[in-house]
This record gives sequence, C-alpha cells and structure tokens, in this order.
Amino acid sequence: MELLPNLIGGQWRTPNVRETSPVMNPSRGESLTAVPMSSAAEVEEAVAEALKAFPDWRETPPNDRAQVMFRLKAMLEDEFEELAMGICQEHGKTLVEARGDLRRGIEMVEYACGAPTLLMGESLENIARGIDCHTDRIPLGVVAGICPFNFPALVPMWMWPLALVCGNCFILKPSEKVPLTMQRIAGMMKKAGLPDGVFSIVHGGREVVDALLEHPGVAAVSFVGSTPVAEAVYQKGCLHGKRVQAAGGAKNFLVILPDADVAATASALRDSAFGCAGERCMAGSVAVAVGEAGERVLPALVDILGSMRIGPTDTADQPDMGALITGAHRDRVKELISLGEAKGGKVLADGRSVRVDDAPGGYYVGPTIIDGVDYGNDLSTTEVFGPVLSVMRARTLDDAIAAANRQSFGNGACLFTTSGKAAREFRHRVSAGMVGINVGVPAPLAYFPFTGWNRSFFGDLHMQGREGVLFYTKQKTTTVRWFSFGEGDIWVK
Ligand code: NAD
Repeated sequence: MELLPNLIGGQWRTPNVRETSPVMNPSRGESLTAVPMSSAAEVEEAVAEALKAFPDWRETPPNDRAQVMFRLKAMLEDEFEELAMGICQEHGKTLVEARGDLRRGIEMVEYACGAPTLLMGESLENIARGIDCHTDRIPLGVVAGICPFNFPALVPMWMWPLALVCGNCFILKPSEKVPLTMQRIAGMMKKAGLPDGVFSIVHGGREVVDALLEHPGVAAVSFVGSTPVAEAVYQKGCLHGKRVQAAGGAKNFLVILPDADVAATASALRDSAFGCAGERCMAGSVAVAVGEAGERVLPALVDILGSMRIGPTDTADQPDMGALITGAHRDRVKELISLGEAKGGKVLADGRSVRVDDAPGGYYVGPTIIDGVDYGNDLSTTEVFGPVLSVMRARTLDDAIAAANRQSFGNGACLFTTSGKAAREFRHRVSAGMVGINVGVPAPLAYFPFTGWNRSFFGDLHMQGREGVLFYTKQKTTTVRWFSFGEGDIWVK
C-alpha cells in the first residue's frame, strides 16, 4: 500500500520507515491508506527547512501573509463539500458534523485574515519628557502542532492559520488516525502562495512528538489530545525551554433544574452527549438532574433517541450518528458501560448491541443512557469519549455544582434552567473554563479563546482568539529618546 508522504521544504517526501500505521474508514472498518511512522531524522529535515524559510517569511509584511489566508479561504470554500466528505471517510462522523468541523476551521482562517490588526503593538508618548515607548509583536520562529483524531480540520486549524500569519513557520504532526484532511489542505497552501518550508507535515506518533519537543530549533509547541499525553508534552516541552499550550481530556457536566424547558433541554442533551458519537472534548458526559428534573426530561430524551439512525457516513444516505474511531475504542466504550452497570448504574438506553447491517465491519456503539451513577462509579470521573450519558441525581443546585466540581477536568459545564439567578450562581461557582446556559456545547468561536481549566489544559495562553496571537508571538518593548535634531536642526529653526 502506498504511504502518505510528509511535506518537507515544500516537497512531498516519502520517508524510508520501519513502521507504518493504517488509516481506516471507521464506518466500515476498511483500510484507506497508511501513514509512515516517521523518526527524528524526518523531524530534523523539517526543522532545518523551516529554519531556512523563516527569515524571509518573518520579513513578509503581515498584510501579504494575510493575503495567503484570503486565497486559501476561497479555495477551502470551493472544495468545501469534497473536504467534508473526506472527513466523513477518515473519521466516521456525519456529513453535517463534518461540515461543522470544517466550517469552524475556516473561521480560524478568516480570523487570521485580520493579521495586520491582530499584530498591532501598543505605544505611549512621553513616558517621561521627550521619551516614547512601543511594544511590537515578534514571531517566535519555528513552531509545531500535535493533533488528536476527533476534529481532523478544526483542531489543526486552531493552530497553523494564526501561527503562520504571526510570521512563524509551522510543523504539523496530524493524528495518525486522520491525516488525510490536512494532507489535502496542505496541497492548497502552495497554490495560495505560501512559500516552501513555511508549512510542513511530519506524520507519525510518539517518536515524532519527542523529537519536536527536544529539538532546539522548535520554539513553541501546541498540543491537543488526552490528558496524560497533554501533561507529559507540557512538562517535556517546558523542560526543553519551549513555550507550550497543551489541551487535554474532559468530563463535562450538564446540570438540569426542574424548571428547565423539557423539549429544548432534551434536544440539547441529545446533541451534547451523542453529537459526533460523543467524541468531542465538549461533549456532555454526565447529566445531573436536580429534584424532579430527571423525571421530566429523561423520558423525553429516551424518546428522541429511539428515532436516531446509526450507520455509515461515507454515503449519500446520511444517518444521525456515525461510528467510533477504532475497534479498540469501541470495545473500551462498551467495557466502561458494563463496568458502570456493574457498579449499580441502571441502563435506560443501551447502545452496546447496536447492529448496522449495511456496514457490519464498522465500529458502532449506539446512544446509551445510564442512570443512578454516583461518586463511586467510574462513569462519574473517567472520560468515556463515546455516546454515553451518565445520570447523577442531586437534591439542590449546590449539590449539583459540588458534583460537577468534584472531578479533575475543567473544559465545559452547562446549566439548563429558566432562572436567571440560578444561572448566575452556576456561572460564578462552577469550576470549568467554558460554561453553557441552556447551551449544551458551549464551544467558543474563533475570536474567543478556548478556555479549558484544571486537568483539561496545561499552560497559560489558550488556542483561538487574542490568546492565540499572544501565544505565537513574543513582545519587544522599545524605549526611545532623541537628544537633538542632529544635522537636521537647521530645518526646525
Ligand atoms: P491522544 O492523546 O491519544 O493523541 C493525541 C496526539 O498525541 C496524537 O497526535 C498522537 O499521535 C500523539 N500521542 C499519543 N500518545 C503519545 C505519547 N505517549 N507521546 C507523545 N505523543 C503521543 O488523543 P486522541 O485519542 O487522538 O484524541 C482524543 C483526546 O483528545 C480526548 O481526550 C479529547 O478530550 C482530547 N481533546 C481535547 C480537546 C480540548 O480542547 N481540550 C480538543 C479535542 C480533543
């Protein structure tokens, strides 16, 4: 089988490797292609080419860098549907979800088009008599991005559009499970006018990640993935003197008060817990029903699930929910459900035995609801990353907030209510970086930061928005005093 090449110095190069990793179509369990598990040698080449390209790219005016993004945006729109279908094939999410993945990525390109404004510094005249002070934003140099499987377009695009318009060269290590979308988009970058070496791709796994983290030529690393890897990447990157932002896993709580709108809340819970088959870092994972809220909302939710169609997404006849990423992940999700049941959880909807007759090799788990989960149950603390909604019961809003704050992550937390006071209290006290009030997936758009907390984020500056610009630049402050007009004195007399 042909291997996907790396992109190094503007050339597609297939490395000579011992190990490869298959890229599967999860809808059917069939192989699409394979990626090389590159080594430190390929990282060395990519960094060398990027360092060569950096001086000229750094001198390229921000407006000209932004023009590359404008042209890329037009190309992405032209090929939008093909790219979205490609995401369905390599990831297994539905076409609607794939379009969303790509649309949110394109919004990052649009945001990056504002480079001249985003990169403006600050200045103050007369910090002392006759002395002025300026700060400028300076690119870091060569920066790297390491990505997870769950958003083949969006997550890499949290990183490179801003990194590039800030004047950096960027090396991407896509997820080895979903490398195709970025491979296609990288092909467009040259046509959009991006000079060779400014953007590179090195496929692989841990060896590539370690080499990027250890290389003295890499100034900063952006990482998104599971918490244990995020923490290790953060620590190793810092140890090697790099600036690091590392987003990790999540366990998002959805608190429902008895006064919540039943139909709207049931629909929001379905989208939050089962959208993208639960493979979202902002997926609702535990519903905390306060008082009678469970009796009001859960029957409506179970009812909607009954009409959800599960199946392959690489076809014109689109289902409501697709497959999980691998067979191993499917098995782990099923195992977590069984363990949760063994610890006293009551399964209200069971996706473990779902059958998809037209794609028997696909990695499917149907939507699952498991009620009566308590603190002793792993389902209250472990990230499942599948279509499983656990339900806890609470007597009061206080108890519900305490339950949400008890676990170690801190990405999202949502409240469903018609009470403004309760919403205010929740927003103020819940320990999560992204809060939804009657919104089940409170993922911020490109111009806001993606503000995970606790063990969902390691670092200081988040992806997206102004924080993204700060992450990819360093500041230079210049203080200026002129003593005389020099030779020009004559002109002012
Ligand atoms: P993962 O941690 O397995 O892999 C992420 C990346 O790290 C991949 O590129 C992989 O090749 C690399 N990697 C894996 N193991 C490594 C190791 N030991 N050393 C160095 N590199 C390693 O994550 P995944 O399964 O691809 O993605 C799912 C996870 O990502 C979930 O936990 C999800 O919550 C998280 N995620 C978080 C956010 C966020 O914003 N917080 C967004 C998307 C996904």
